[in-house]
Amino acid sequence: MHTDGKPFVFACPGAGAKVHRLRRQREVLAAKLQQLDKLLAGGEAPGLRARSEFLKTEIALVSARQGHLNRALAWAGARWLVDQALANQASVIYAEDLRTMESRGLGKLTNTRCSNAVRSELLKALRHLAKKVGIAVVTVPARGTSALCPRCLKALHHCPAPDRQGENGHKWSWCRH
Ligand SMILES: [Zn+2]
Repeated sequence: MHTDGKPFVFACPGAGAKVHRLRRQREVLAAKLQQLDKLLAGGEAPGLRARSEFLKTEIALVSARQGHLNRALAWAGARWLVDQALANQASVIYAEDLRTMESRGLGKLTNTRCSNAVRSELLKALRHLAKKVGIAVVTVPARGTSALCPRCLKALHHCPAPDRQGENGHKWSWCRH
């Protein structure tokens, strides 16, 4: 495999901004609803109930939009990943098990980029698309995934890039054997 040392990253800048905008929109609506509910708890006032119902409908609409966008992103990401695997003549795609992901050092960063819902949709899409082209998808515990060489099972060295093997980093795993 020939590479320039950059990790493969699936990026959709436009969609990423939209994901952020929708999340922000929902937060603002939820905060408004919370205030209204407080007011309603203090007693009914004309228009408050209707306003509260309206906000609930708005929140449901934004949620639906979020779900739709997340699913579209997950499928586009899975398509991209299967294409990478095909281009590199891989026969297996290893995916980190969702349940063990949180405990990892990189968990926080990964979590803010990709929610649990998106991850499980991604895995579903990955399984579906990979099966069509004869590539197996195997889930493995996140912890220790990159500790051992998948070919010879000896300990891997981690470095920032293939041409910087003397340095320590987590982006690339390198088998010295
Ligand atoms: Zn090896």
